Amino acid sequence: MKDEERFPLEKPDADWRRELDAETYQVLRGHGTERAGTSPLNAEKRAGTFRCAGCGEPLFCATTKYESGSGWPSFYAPMPDAVGTSEDRSHLMQRTEVHCARCGGHLGHVFADGPQPTGERYCINGAALKFEPQKS
Ligand SMILES: [Zn+2]
Repeated sequence: MKDEERFPLEKPDADWRRELDAETYQVLRGHGTERAGTSPLNAEKRAGTFRCAGCGEPLFCATTKYESGSGWPSFYAPMPDAVGTSEDRSHLMQRTEVHCARCGGHLGHVFADGPQPTGERYCINGAALKFEPQKS
């Protein structure tokens, strides 16, 4: 994320730190990565919506979720205009970072080895998401 990038929802760091639990804060605001295979959302297969754990913005629809085998919740497409991307050159790799378009919270990375129809793999930290099951 570029320092000069601005988002519709911005809060002082102290507010985020107070509102989010430690792991969610570390992922969303500290660009952290949860340990692979630890998120309960890996196994989530119900219909519904995955929202940003920071601001509640709907980010991914359950219909785009698939089992990538990576150990992180994976999606082949975000909802329209829900996420932004930036180049991430940390850890001696060149990757594309994915963040919430509303609050700028770090979500994960996107890779070009996903399934059709997009060929993209959004590899997202479960700690950055909140799942809302579809009401039947
Ligand atoms: Zn957000």
